[in-house]
Amino acid sequence: MEKAFQEAILRAIEEQTTNAHEIQQQLLEDILKENAETEYLNKYLNGQIDKQLFKKNVPIVTYEDIKHYIDRIVNGEPSSLFTGTSGGQPKMIPSTDQASETRCSIPLFTEAVLRKHMDCLEYKGKVTYFLFAKPELDTPSAPFGVITCLDTKQSMYCQLLASLLQRDEVLAVGAAFASALASIIKFLQDYWKEICSNIRTGHLSDWITEPACRDGMSSILTGPNPELADLLEHIFGNQSWEGILKKLWPVAKGVDVVVTGTMSQYFNLLDFYSGGLPIVSTSYTSSEACFGINLNPLNKPSEVSYTFLPALAYFEFLPVDKDNGSEKAQKLQVTGVSKEESAVDLVDVKVGRCYEVVVTTMGGLYRYRVGDILKVTGFYNNSPQFEFVERQNVVLSVDTDKTSESDLLKAIMDATRLLEPLGLLLTSYSSYADTSCAPGRYALFWELKLKESNTDDLPKLDPKIMEQCCARVEESLDFTYKFYRKINLIAPLEIRVVKQGAFVALMDFFVSRGASISQYKTPCCLKLQEAIEILNSKVVGKFFSSKNFS
Ligand code: AMP
Repeated sequence: MEKAFQEAILRAIEEQTTNAHEIQQQLLEDILKENAETEYLNKYLNGQIDKQLFKKNVPIVTYEDIKHYIDRIVNGEPSSLFTGTSGGQPKMIPSTDQASETRCSIPLFTEAVLRKHMDCLEYKGKVTYFLFAKPELDTPSAPFGVITCLDTKQSMYCQLLASLLQRDEVLAVGAAFASALASIIKFLQDYWKEICSNIRTGHLSDWITEPACRDGMSSILTGPNPELADLLEHIFGNQSWEGILKKLWPVAKGVDVVVTGTMSQYFNLLDFYSGGLPIVSTSYTSSEACFGINLNPLNKPSEVSYTFLPALAYFEFLPVDKDNGSEKAQKLQVTGVSKEESAVDLVDVKVGRCYEVVVTTMGGLYRYRVGDILKVTGFYNNSPQFEFVERQNVVLSVDTDKTSESDLLKAIMDATRLLEPLGLLLTSYSSYADTSCAPGRYALFWELKLKESNTDDLPKLDPKIMEQCCARVEESLDFTYKFYRKINLIAPLEIRVVKQGAFVALMDFFVSRGASISQYKTPCCLKLQEAIEILNSKVVGKFFSSKNFS
């Protein structure tokens, strides 16, 4: 990025954040002008381009509320229903060329900011940003989408090989989310010998058969390089991989990966590997919309806030109440005011308060609840800055999979039918995303009781049945979970059977921290390490799914 261009982008950030209100109002007007005649908006606005009417009449919706419209577009009806075109399962998010252009501006913003804060970043160099395409899904409205079944393993291998061959030019290493980078490091553990051997001989492994991979590598792996192979083997051969990222990519200045929100669970792991390189979460985006960028990329993850850029989408915020004393944001405060009335504009949010973000986009989403809870930490010029608090209704998440409390309950209840013929009852369960190894997995704690017995003794559990239980839970989980299992970004689900009384001990622990027994509810997903340790210390049997998702 040329200096003049970087400066122009930094000026654009200043301008946007200073004129946040005006830009938001103009954007809403533009969206209404463009889309007031669509079937969806026309229903509420009668073709009028009136911002007040929009706020009064257009409902605040979730994906489920508008799914039938999206399904109609997916099934070939004109996108003028909403505007936009279809995306891919599991959520089809409508989009337009304009919306895609907006999305493409994000890397420019984040690069300009990174260069400002890391002035040691030279102007010439490369970034290894691991990217993986998902297979395109064909829909009746997009028959041209030839299914490109990309092989993640081949892709990951070649990206690593290419990056190591050019290690002296790599200024930053990254991936969208921390979980992906953790998996890439795990992959490296399995494949480093082969990668080094390819470098030594200049010959690409025969199992790399994808023409795009072979073609791409032919210009990078051009001949034998035994010196580099020796050097890398020496680094990989160390017993501890502490600081390995810095050793492998010696001129890298940082690790560009989101480590806020659910991803903060991977921070310690990546910090261990990074060798002191700053781990920077540069932006906050989603499939539905882009929100903002991190203007202080060198901040610790716990201090990261994202400054919303008002040209990215029209933003509204539903106030969210905090549970007394609890860290977790809770449901919308019910005060007799409708959601629509309680939504506040971008510039009107209050520092210290939590909100659920609602977006209206050029892509065809109108007052859409993204499902993220954010906390206002301050303002940059006139644009608010938000800390990511949590994903609403998500209990388990290893990668970008999201399993809600009710989905988990349903899946577990379904699986426990297998225990009925054995006379066994599931008395309590909880779960957590175990990311101590990469890839992470869902670990469920189950406390079982023999219907026929009043003692604490359990019969020896049949491993086959328990494995089937694991598989049954997995089968009930959603498309994204199964997809990540298939490509090995999530490891097989585990059930840890705990001694009877384990959940009482868990409750005692929470009570000792100030919870009231009468209000105590067993958390179905544990976040607190101490709580997880309590259950782990009571485990009497571990079982893993052997289900094959390929
Ligand atoms: P997806 O639509 O699959 O890309 O997922 C988007 C979701 O990922 C957002 O709605 C957030 O819940 C989460 N997310 C994206 N960026 C960040 C970030 N910088 N920090 C925390 N969570 C994020």
